[in-house]
Amino acid sequence: MARALRALQGLGPERGQRGPRVRFGPSPTGFLHLGGLRTALYNYIFAKKHQGTFILRVEDTDQNRVVPGAAEGIEDMLDWAGIPPDESPRRGGAFGPYRQSQRLELYQRASSRLLESGAAYRCFCTPQRLELLRKEALRRQQTPRYDNRCRHLTPTEVAEKLSQGLAWVVRFRLEQGVEPFQDLVYGWNRHEVAEVEGDPVILKGDGFPTYHLANVVDDHHMGISHVLRGAEWLTSTAKHLLLYKAFGWDPPQFGHLPLLLNKDGAKLSKRQGDIFLESFARDGYLPEALLDIITNCGSGFTEKRMGRTLEELISQFDIGRITTHSALLDLETLPEFNRIHLSRHIENEELRQKLVRELQLLVEQAYGHQQVEQEVLQKEYMERVLLLRKGHISLLKNLVACDYSYLWVRPSVSREQLQTISAEAEEIGKLVLGLLASQAVALTVEELNKDLRNLQKQTKETKYSSMMQLLRLALSGQQHGPSVAEMMVTLGPKEVSGRIHRALSS
Ligand code: GLU
Repeated sequence: MARALRALQGLGPERGQRGPRVRFGPSPTGFLHLGGLRTALYNYIFAKKHQGTFILRVEDTDQNRVVPGAAEGIEDMLDWAGIPPDESPRRGGAFGPYRQSQRLELYQRASSRLLESGAAYRCFCTPQRLELLRKEALRRQQTPRYDNRCRHLTPTEVAEKLSQGLAWVVRFRLEQGVEPFQDLVYGWNRHEVAEVEGDPVILKGDGFPTYHLANVVDDHHMGISHVLRGAEWLTSTAKHLLLYKAFGWDPPQFGHLPLLLNKDGAKLSKRQGDIFLESFARDGYLPEALLDIITNCGSGFTEKRMGRTLEELISQFDIGRITTHSALLDLETLPEFNRIHLSRHIENEELRQKLVRELQLLVEQAYGHQQVEQEVLQKEYMERVLLLRKGHISLLKNLVACDYSYLWVRPSVSREQLQTISAEAEEIGKLVLGLLASQAVALTVEELNKDLRNLQKQTKETKYSSMMQLLRLALSGQQHGPSVAEMMVTLGPKEVSGRIHRALSS
């Protein structure tokens, strides 16, 4: 059974066999979004799992929709996400070029081949005629389709039209009798496309191919063994298989990935760019959190758990486990995914150094104008803060939010200010200094809370809440914020003593 499945998947058991070749074929019409990332990720994982090759092919044949810079942006984002292609426009490779607009000759040759064999024909219908057909169909409440009129032109008629210099496109003759194919996810499929569609254009008047031709020609010439793409292409596959047949080529294996939808089942929103990778990167999300969330809401893995790394995703992937259920994405859980991955980064020595550098920049950006003390920008201090706040923050930038400003800016508080809260300000300060001096090891928040309760008992008339108010002011210059014990632990005894000293002596 397992053997048969592997054979179906095109992953023969023989050793030394060339690994699969898969491709991600985005149209460069804008930024990479989560849906695109997911398609790319499944392809990447599949390739890495089976020692194969992951290819980025830019499908820019619809020149009207191409956005300048989008192709580069997509490749940048794959790199950022940690799933770089092995072959791509930027990296090159033995099967290039990797931009369809640079492969026009190949499509033109392929189209001529189909014209010669009679599998395709020139169509001279004017845009006006096609528009009339469309309107007529809509009036009759039918789906518009080309009526295949030019299929029946005789060679003499074609020659005549050509000699008149009439504009033409190439259409592919859709034959009846489509053979069923076994999709790796959706199982057996048969779509008698000729019954519902007119013959499709495969080469346009400007010499550019349409998606169907370019896709089939490239998958063949690039040696693609498995096509893993969104389920929205499932019905196009019948057309593609007819093209493979007309060329006499063996088709690749197909696996269509169920749709990625919002948690309410609606189409993934692109409102205000909220699902574009660039915006997540800008907001400070870690790529691993994105990879984790878009796979957790779907299928294909032996385990479902928050916090999986890319290596784990690869080892737990099993294409046979992808179901046809749509994946429902709940973006509200993204901060939680990020919190888990951020903790992992903080725990890792090397990744922590990277976070330190990022945090230094964030602090300078947020507080630079308030004269941040050099000491707080030092690596040791930053590392300490990271390790102590690990698990409490979901984004690195949370550490420069208002609540944490005490970490970066020393308050300027006077003794008078403290005394308006309690006449015993001086005594309380000394008690705390004494406590800190007597502590050899760093305290935990719980222990410190207990100690602070005991200290309060040594005052004459200061209530616990006033004592906390006073200490909070001395440490942060603010009336609200994190607990005093938390601030004391995070700042460390030396910094806390310094701040109390300064306030009492000013
Ligand atoms: N260019 C198509 C897209 O933008 C690729 C479809 C396919 O993978 O065949 O989704």
